[in-house]
Parts: sequence; structure tokens; C-alpha cells
Amino acid sequence: MTKAWMVYCGDEWVTLIHADTRGKAIANARQWIDNSADFIEFRATRFPEMDDRKFTYQDCKDAGFEYDRDDDGKPYFWNDCSCDICEGEYKNDV
Ligand SMILES: [Zn+2]
Repeated sequence: MTKAWMVYCGDEWVTLIHADTRGKAIANARQWIDNSADFIEFRATRFPEMDDRKFTYQDCKDAGFEYDRDDDGKPYFWNDCSCDICEGEYKNDV
């Protein structure tokens, strides 16, 4: 089983990552941050509704994930996960 995690980067943003462990989930998310941000605290919490499921906007929303919205009220959707499940998924599209 591939576990799904919500990884929080400080208070700035949260991203969804599949990983076997909390540490791997954080390491995966951290690669998207430049090295000058080493001081930022990462936290990861489980998102069991999305275990073994590709992160898509609708599925994540239905599972209770809250997306940030831009000025037009359009939700930001992105998939930073590069696991086997998500790989190849069309990224950054709603
Ligand atoms: Zn994934």
C-alpha cells in the first residue's frame, strides 16, 4: 500500500505526497523548496482517504482536502507527487 500524506511547509502551503513513511513524504516535499529555506518546518499528517489513489482535484476535494483559491475564486490544484501512481498524471490542471 502507498500511504498518502499532507505535507505542511511552515504556514505557507500544504502539498500531497505518496510515501511509505512520514520522513520520505517530507523529503519529497522538501525538494520543491530551495535550500535557503532550510529553516522552514515541515510537518506531515496522514491522508488515508487517498492511499493508493492518484491525487486528482476532484478526488482530493471529495476526500476533504481544501485547496487555496486565487483572486477569481478558482482553486489552485497541483500534484507534486512523483510516485508510480501519480507519475504521468497531467499536472497543475483543474
Ligand atoms: Zn503519488
